[in-house]
Amino acid sequence: MGTDPDLFVHPERISSQLICPICTQVLENPVQTVNDHLYCEDELIEWMSRHDIPLCPVTHEELKPDDIRKPSRIIINMLAELERYCPNKENGCEWIGSNEQVNTHIKTCNKRSIIELINDINIKDNKITQLRQRLIHKDKHIHTLEIKNNDLMNELVIVNKKLKVYDAFFEDTKQKIGSSSSIISGSNGGSGGGSGNGRQYREYDCKSSSSSGSSGSSVSGSDNKESALQRLLQLRELGSFEDEGKS
Ligand SMILES: [Zn+2]
Ligand SMILES: [Zn+2]
Repeated sequence: MGTDPDLFVHPERISSQLICPICTQVLENPVQTVNDHLYCEDELIEWMSRHDIPLCPVTHEELKPDDIRKPSRIIINMLAELERYCPNKENGCEWIGSNEQVNTHIKTCNKRSIIELINDINIKDNKITQLRQRLIHKDKHIHTLEIKNNDLMNELVIVNKKLKVYDAFFEDTKQKIGSSSSIISGSNGGSGGGSGNGRQYREYDCKSSSSSGSSGSSVSGSDNKESALQRLLQLRELGSFEDEGKS
């Protein structure tokens, strides 16, 4: 439905081109047919849907949906620039502005009917409900992420503890290998390159694993026992961390 010409400040100046032939009001959302007649979009669609072979209400030529298009920029501008009143003028609204500004004004017009205001409140209430639901959903998601984060932090603490024990374990072993290789290389008269060292390490491993053997090396029996005990404790500690991680 178009707009009542009386809602415009100068209805007598409105071009007949801007009047819809179907509703005889000022065009609203106009569309143009192939023979250049202008209609309100909603009304033309309704008109066409009512007829098996829709004919132009003015020329009675056949109307094809593909031939209907947006009007030229000049028509759109002529409509937009018409000076008009607010649709709530009868309720006391004194607003005057251009036709293109009226929709923006209506949203904030304080002379709207009670029914419109109630509708507005209902729409806003629905939006608030939707936003609340989204908020609840997001809160749940955040809670899940917090739990995951805590789990990961706990895991990190355990991994760090493990890492410290591993470091201590390897540092200890490295020192022993270092001291042992220097003793062995000393007994070999300082000979042997990089490949020789590999063999020396293996030699040390054999000796240290058979702690009961009374070998002639400088590592005493009591030292061997002590380091074996230390390793045992370290390995136990590792085991307990792993258990911690599983629980
Ligand atoms: Zn119309
Ligand atoms: Zn108003």
